[in-house]
Amino acid sequence: RQTRPTTIRPLSRDALRRLASTLAVLEQREGKLNMSSLASISAAQKLGGSIHGFVAGSNGKTVADEAAKVDGLEKVIYVDNGAYDKGLPENWAPLLVENIKKGGYTHVFAGHSAFGKNLLPRVAALLDVQQISDITEIQGEDTFVRPIYAGNAILTVKSEDNPKIVTVRGTAFPAGAAEGGSASVEEGADPKAECPTEWVSEDLAKSDRPDLATAEKVVSGGRGLKSKEEFDRLMPPLADALGAAIGASRAAVDSGFADNSLQVGQTGKNVAPQLYLCAGISGAIQHLAGMKDSKVIAAINKDPDAPIFQVADVGLVGDLFEKVPELTEKLKSA
Ligand code: FAD
Repeated sequence: RQTRPTTIRPLSRDALRRLASTLAVLEQREGKLNMSSLASISAAQKLGGSIHGFVAGSNGKTVADEAAKVDGLEKVIYVDNGAYDKGLPENWAPLLVENIKKGGYTHVFAGHSAFGKNLLPRVAALLDVQQISDITEIQGEDTFVRPIYAGNAILTVKSEDNPKIVTVRGTAFPAGAAEGGSASVEEGADPKAECPTEWVSEDLAKSDRPDLATAEKVVSGGRGLKSKEEFDRLMPPLADALGAAIGASRAAVDSGFADNSLQVGQTGKNVAPQLYLCAGISGAIQHLAGMKDSKVIAAINKDPDAPIFQVADVGLVGDLFEKVPELTEKLKSA
């Protein structure tokens, strides 16, 4: 009797996708899940396969229970240890490596935040793989798109590393729903690595305004405001009239008009609100890198040739010291 030759069919794209397993590193502050870190979950959803969340800190279990409700997670792994509260990369990196090895993940995603940027390159180094930074698109399990040169060039990166260690640009992936999921919660491994760095103190800018990185509307001021006094006189009332967060250009920050945490751009925050309204900002490429994905860009500038008008949907040529108070009054009475 003749035996039939066995046919080995290549795995379909869908089957390959099912093999992906992603660990999404979630951020927390004082026991509350940081919603902007949920972008790493929506990015992982594009990839397909199973997605586990990871949290650590003295309220690890409480935050894990909150994260378990986030749509898209199969499991949340937590480590309950106050040593991880301040997000120091020196002890977080070995913590993550231990849990990545334990879970055998193909991908590790974290937000391209100060925390993610600080942590994931160290994790990649410990695993002897390449870090893939600030992705804005996923083309496949091994292929990612990321801007370089302040967004002036777009790079498509193909990586054969395993696991792939990736930071995700928050504005490129929607944060996803905080409710609707029912993930299981499991305790992770804690290597209790020595931490050569001691957290001493922090000086946080407190504000009741919406968070700049996730706000629906942002008003931003630049060097054209001339001084801190003028910035404080003109920008907060405009922000209040719109219910907006306040941002600033680097020139405004460097001149001391606004706090460093408000800087928008290549070396500041990436924002993509429904409305970005800026006054006295020229539109340097490094500034545009942080806000050009905004839905509607409106600019006030006295120079009709200012580069900001090349990206603005709405432009007002005029003196901001006249136009901003006028606009604020009109918005208040609208
Ligand atoms: P200016 O370029 O000085 O522009 C001021 C504008 O105000 C002008 O267009 C002027 O016409 C207008 N103006 C003046 N008076 C009035 C008035 N009365 N009414 C109306 N308009 C008026 N910049 C960032 O913003 N974010 C970054 O993250 C960033 N990262 C950088 C990284 C690197 C490596 C480098 C080299 C630079 C970076 N910069 C960044 C700096 C950037 O190149 C610009 O210098 C900066 O954005 C300029 O800020 P500005 O538009 O407020 O100031």
